[in-house]
Amino acid sequence: MVLKFLLILLLFCSLKADSRDILVHIFSTQEKLKTVFIQGSFSFEAPFKRRANNIIYKVNCKNKQIFFSGLPFKSSLFVLKGGYIKIRLINNLERIYTGTVFIKAKPDCELVLQNSIDEKTYIISVVGNEMPTNWPLEALKAQSVLAQTRLLNSAKQPVLPDSTNEQSYKGLLANSSKVQKAVQETWRQVLYYKNKPIKVFYHSTCGGQTSSGNYLKENYAYLSSVKCSYCGSSPFAKNKAVYIPALQIVQTDKAGRPISVKFQNKLMSGYEFWLKAGQEWGWGKIPGTYYWANGNFIYSRGAGHGVGLCQWGAKGLADKGQKYSQILNYYFPEAKIKTL
Ligand SMILES: [Zn+2]
Repeated sequence: MVLKFLLILLLFCSLKADSRDILVHIFSTQEKLKTVFIQGSFSFEAPFKRRANNIIYKVNCKNKQIFFSGLPFKSSLFVLKGGYIKIRLINNLERIYTGTVFIKAKPDCELVLQNSIDEKTYIISVVGNEMPTNWPLEALKAQSVLAQTRLLNSAKQPVLPDSTNEQSYKGLLANSSKVQKAVQETWRQVLYYKNKPIKVFYHSTCGGQTSSGNYLKENYAYLSSVKCSYCGSSPFAKNKAVYIPALQIVQTDKAGRPISVKFQNKLMSGYEFWLKAGQEWGWGKIPGTYYWANGNFIYSRGAGHGVGLCQWGAKGLADKGQKYSQILNYYFPEAKIKTL
């Protein structure tokens, strides 16, 4: 009897665990949001109960007063629940959400939007935003394991931002059947190293060899440097030159990425210079951290920081028939897939 009760409890807990909801701060990079337009198939749960009739509602805040479709309202919280919640901002940025959306007005009138969503829908969105949805299934599955590992590491945060500060989440955008399949087939699978989920790193194109975590001062054994001849079909696989004089490479790591450089007679780390170059001249000039100087030009190959999984390499390996587990094992040789 006790055993039966325990089994039922266990089953209930595992079902509940499978459908855990998380809270995401949506439109988190938009500053001083004061007006939103909402439309779709959902119900208002607060401050009143009403079905939305696919008409456009406007929620805005002005002089510390909340307005709902032009009428002043006392409540500073709107709760929308349903399958299809379209939100448009004044700059015409538009996204569609499911689950529950909270619109909260802060005392200074700024609107904060949050989306309570089940983990699986969240992971599907993240995978579809971080990797092209038409890529091979096994590459998408590798990305799905990484997305779930990252989420596991963020479990203690009460609210996740929807930006790349955490993982890029854009509601139902990029929710394709192929991505759904990739997530379904890897559900609850995460990458572990010595009883702990790994800290996730991936980038677009390594350009020939990934760097160890030391490059980013992330000294983990599972972030080792691996040769990669699989990202050749990336648009960043060819050398790119840009006219930037006065750079001197002082030291490189074994993958060829500059560890220290001298720019305009100032010594800095190779990664620091790369970030500075991206911020000052745009991210397209030196797309990746694998760069070198020749005369007055800086040459580079690849895109992104070059640590962890090379996404174009994952695509190349999947195109060759490798499974997601083999892809992950290639870029994180020390880590193991664990099913939670
Ligand atoms: Zn690569």
